[in-house]
Amino acid sequence: MSQPDAAALVGPSHRSQPELTSRYGQVMMNTFGAPKRVFVRGEGVHVWDADQNRYLDLLSGLAVNGLGHAHPAVLSAITSQLSTLGHVSNFFATPAQIALAERLVDLTGRGRTDHAKVFFTNSGTEANEAALKATRLTGRSRVIAMEGSFHGRTMGALSLTHNPAYRTPFEPLPGGVTFVPYGDADALADVLDDTVAAVVVEPIQGENGVVSPPQGYLQRVRELTREHGALLWFDEVQTGMGRTGRWLASEGVEADLVTLAKGLGNGFPIGACLAFGAAGQLLKPGHHGTTFGGNPVAAIAGLAVIGVIERDGLLANATAVGEHLANSVESLRHPLVTTVRGEGLLRGIVLAVDIAPKVSDLLLDAGFITNAPRPNVLRIAPPLLITREQIDAFVAALPQALGAARD
Ligand SMILES: *Cc1c(COP(=O)(O)O)cnc(C)c1O
Repeated sequence: MSQPDAAALVGPSHRSQPELTSRYGQVMMNTFGAPKRVFVRGEGVHVWDADQNRYLDLLSGLAVNGLGHAHPAVLSAITSQLSTLGHVSNFFATPAQIALAERLVDLTGRGRTDHAKVFFTNSGTEANEAALKATRLTGRSRVIAMEGSFHGRTMGALSLTHNPAYRTPFEPLPGGVTFVPYGDADALADVLDDTVAAVVVEPIQGENGVVSPPQGYLQRVRELTREHGALLWFDEVQTGMGRTGRWLASEGVEADLVTLAKGLGNGFPIGACLAFGAAGQLLKPGHHGTTFGGNPVAAIAGLAVIGVIERDGLLANATAVGEHLANSVESLRHPLVTTVRGEGLLRGIVLAVDIAPKVSDLLLDAGFITNAPRPNVLRIAPPLLITREQIDAFVAALPQALGAARD
């Protein structure tokens, strides 16, 4: 019996970019605007569009593809798991999810002694929903979040997200959230009291344009939350899994809750909520659930990602190449570049004027994928395995895009 050929529906005979873009406009809900390109293939740090143009991927699908595209280790892990056992529901367990939970706990550096517990999800926003629900079980319901924060788009995570353009159309949102200026420990101390369940902080605010808090801030937040019996929750959905050159950007500061997602599955959807000590005991049977979360195929992808980052020294590569990128861009001494922010391979090139979206579009035309999280910030979040030479090609192309965007 012949098999229905799903692949034929997306094969080369259906691949002209204008045609695909028009079909997209007909059938896809208009939540993202018109797509800038239709991509058909990826390999390593490169992707190809439907017209066979090649791009250097400096965004990694929003800090997701840390190992680049079609990484052989991820591919073989997923393929072998999928051909063995693809899905069973959370009535049952699989070796892959157990092993991934153990690995995640180990790489936080807190061993298994801190009674760390893991809840798997399919996305960052869901990891944050799990954490938010856990905070409700403390008996307190207030949460303090940061101005400029981004925690996701589902209603709970959205209630913690600061941007009014994202929030306002969907009010009323779950309440009890107070926003304080990011990086200002005194402002936090002013509103923190014994009614607060948790304080949620991104170690670096990626969506806000790659903004880091002052030195010592995270530790100070740890001390303040401890004083008031509030949980400390780091949203490391964007900063975790080696993106900043460390497994966790918050390394050295012991949070009660840590949420992960983007870089964890190299593009296979997976998120995780890690909870330490008493926080790991809050969610009890019946309190929370998920059909797909902890799926063995997603879990094996996570195991493969961790294995390759370790084997290939990609934390060190992210640190070294990230420094090289920042130094090289600053060395251009381009009048339109103010500074380069961030750590490791999560970088924001800050521009003197609000032309980042235009610069990003011109870079795309020149074969470089970036994005503009703010009107004056260009975000660079390439695969963790990118080389200096590949970064040099981007830096060489940057002045022309900047110049053309200003004209
Ligand atoms: C992307 C992001 C999220 C949301 O993750 P999704 O997988 O898009 O739901 C949450 N928090 C931070 C810090 C993020 O960068």
